[in-house]
Amino acid sequence: MRKIVVSFLAGLSLLFLSCSQKKTSESFTAMNTFMTVSIYSSSSKTGEAVCRQIQSRVDELEQILSTTLPSSDVYFINHNSKIPSPLKPELKLLLDFCGQMYEKTDGVFNPALYPVIREWGFTTGEYKVPSAEKIQELLLHTDFSKLYDDEKIELDFGAVGKGYAADEALLILEENGIKSALLDFGGNIQALGKKPDGSLWKVGIKNPWDGQVACALSVESKAVVTSGGYERFFEKDGERYIHIFDPATGHPSQSDLESVTIVCESGIYADALSTALFVMGKDKAIVWWKKQMAEKSFPAFDFILITKSGELIYSEGLSDFIEPIYQFVSIETVSLN
Ligand code: AMP
Ligand code: MG
Repeated sequence: MRKIVVSFLAGLSLLFLSCSQKKTSESFTAMNTFMTVSIYSSSSKTGEAVCRQIQSRVDELEQILSTTLPSSDVYFINHNSKIPSPLKPELKLLLDFCGQMYEKTDGVFNPALYPVIREWGFTTGEYKVPSAEKIQELLLHTDFSKLYDDEKIELDFGAVGKGYAADEALLILEENGIKSALLDFGGNIQALGKKPDGSLWKVGIKNPWDGQVACALSVESKAVVTSGGYERFFEKDGERYIHIFDPATGHPSQSDLESVTIVCESGIYADALSTALFVMGKDKAIVWWKKQMAEKSFPAFDFILITKSGELIYSEGLSDFIEPIYQFVSIETVSLN
């Protein structure tokens, strides 16, 4: 009887909480993407103030990380051949984080690849296939571990910036006592808590072939970040050249994957890992995940791989939360052993 009364009261308070929560949703453009912040709070005034705070923090980060704003710190690095001293804490955090990722992925994740990516036209939109000599020449200065020694290094945090910004936004939400929110930073999703009615957030994973939803994923307090070759590419002589690069070749990745989604607590990890696992390709990505999870040297994360041949492969932690919608050729769950 006591149990029934307790669960009735819990249900009642949840109902009260969900009714008392006001939704505030605001969109803005930053970091070259459309961003939407949806917050549930006790008053719409609070919600609006928190949205504004998030937007100004994201703007602040863009002022540091932009490769095109002449006043940015990254622009300074790229044009003055040196790392500023003292470093802003945000930049220090990113450089340390990327250094760790570069090492752990054996250089697959590499923000110093920027001059190569630019040569292919991905920053300017003037796409071209550079000569083999030019690529080799540019690759000489892309060793991220020589960050403080190689004066010709240039950086681009395009593969982690949005994930980092989402983590920073999450801090603002928590500081303001928000318990339920959903951030969509250009497809990088960050869910805080559950929905006010107590149910999980439902996130759609894009079908790379038709832009519809390939599978639905239910999450609570998780970052869900996807990297896909379909997001940005150009075509020349029947060949598709995508925006995710293989640092070993200086060419767009020839991955056998169409997309990689990473699910974990941190936006910056999810963002970096989705890019890295994409470049690794199906087999290496699975082996790498097993290794990292076994060594526990990394925060735990789950993955969803959609292969070029139409397979869906995901890690076992997602089994109860994923709902395939697209007719995949096959569906496989990967476990740790
Ligand atoms: P994402 O959409 O998060 O996978 O990031 C892709 C962006 O990161 C690209 O537009 C490039 O600016 C940059 N990028 C491409 N390849 C790599 C790589 N192998 N490592 C780090 N950044 C990369
Ligand atoms: Mg990324």
